Amino acid sequence: MLRRTITVTAAVLAVVLTVQTGSRAAPAPGSPGAGDVYYPEYGNGGYDVGHYDIRLRYHPDTDRLTGATTILATATQDLSRFNLDFALRTTSVRVNNRPATFARQGDHELVVTPARPITKGTPLTVVVEYDDIPSTVVAAGFTSWNRTDDGALAVGEPEIAWWWYPSNDHPTDKASFDVSVLVPDGVEVISNGTPTRWATPAFAGWDRWSWRQEKPQATYLAFLAIGDFDTYQDTSADGSPIVTAYNTRLDPVTAAAARASVERSDEITDWAAGLFGPYPFGARGGVVTGAGDQGFALETQTRPVYDGRSFLRGTNNSLVVHELAHQWFGDSVALGQWKDIWLNEGFATYAQWLWSEEQGEGTAAELAHYVWSEVHPAGDPFWQVLPGDPGPDRLFHSAVYDRGALTVHHLRELVGDEKFFAILRAWTETNEHGDGTTPEFQALAEQISGQDLDAFLQTWLYTPGRPEIGLSTLAAPAEPKSWQRIVAAHEAAHP
Ligand SMILES: [Zn+2]
Repeated sequence: MLRRTITVTAAVLAVVLTVQTGSRAAPAPGSPGAGDVYYPEYGNGGYDVGHYDIRLRYHPDTDRLTGATTILATATQDLSRFNLDFALRTTSVRVNNRPATFARQGDHELVVTPARPITKGTPLTVVVEYDDIPSTVVAAGFTSWNRTDDGALAVGEPEIAWWWYPSNDHPTDKASFDVSVLVPDGVEVISNGTPTRWATPAFAGWDRWSWRQEKPQATYLAFLAIGDFDTYQDTSADGSPIVTAYNTRLDPVTAAAARASVERSDEITDWAAGLFGPYPFGARGGVVTGAGDQGFALETQTRPVYDGRSFLRGTNNSLVVHELAHQWFGDSVALGQWKDIWLNEGFATYAQWLWSEEQGEGTAAELAHYVWSEVHPAGDPFWQVLPGDPGPDRLFHSAVYDRGALTVHHLRELVGDEKFFAILRAWTETNEHGDGTTPEFQALAEQISGQDLDAFLQTWLYTPGRPEIGLSTLAAPAEPKSWQRIVAAHEAAHP
């Protein structure tokens, strides 16, 4: 659309002539957001990223991070300028081999104006150089870069990329990643995917660590764990590299408990694949931080990051199940909108209920009844939070997890086991390495079940108050054996 008033000038005539010859509209700025209803400024419009090449140098003593990130993208409109999401001090930007001008807008947007407009459909190569102390950088009121006693953690949801690489920061624009970090020798660097350089001497006193994520990955699911880690490498039956890492500051018993859980990641991944469809990625593993370093666990792609605190009381397999289930629900099938967070947390929580059933520690039906009648009785304010639209401030409220899982369970009761698991597998297959929304999930579930699920989902996802499901007449169920473990896992999983 041409937003021009009609006055008789040469410029207008020129515009009219261009339109008549079929040329495009004048290049315009890309949108500063990706259209997310909760986070309108997250992500950007006007281009689609295919690959991030992130090259960093980091020193734990000073927390100084210098970097050069190359973004390979394609313009999706004629662009006069475009935005990147980034908070660190930027020293130069080049676009398609020419120096570009750049300006900060707010505290996490970088506006880039290329020397020449970019034509829709053509490649866009952006090189951003930067140099900062990330732990001192505040954006949107907080700092997600986490400096630890022996290094740093870049792990967060939804906001983390701003503190270590410029990006199109929304789950709907996935890309492959190469992450390469120079650190003083003796320091480990763990990231997603496959290690391509493992502590390779670069120059005196410095090693390079490189990691490759070949499969499409959302920006918040890329992570860095830098510090002193005991690392283990193995290969899974499908040939994928397994890398696990445990911070050396963990006391020996906690480290042993962490290993007793996280070393089962390969087995648990195979178990989940039996329920949800083939494992979508080519690498596996997990990382355990120092106790209290991070305060939560996150389903970072191929290799979840767990806080060591989660294993202070012993193994926590339920937590590992939760984070690995996210590899299907959240990572491979990402959120189309952050408001649909129950599609991540409800399904990952339900996987814990299925694991409990598998272990003989309480069936999913027993857990559902227990959660509905004992954990969150009618009248509990819990029931006022809507899992289908919790609001950005309650993205990780327990209702998103527990009422989300209850929704999944009641869908299973409504359609029966055969169709329920067919729906899950069709969802992960149809949207593999893509994203999905609640309306899309509903359409798929209705197609497979042959049922109209509108009233059901309206009640469970979008209506305040406890849905009455005809269980009140039954005796209050006993606490399932797995319940305390599930609670412990949720305490650990909440950011
Ligand atoms: Zn989760």
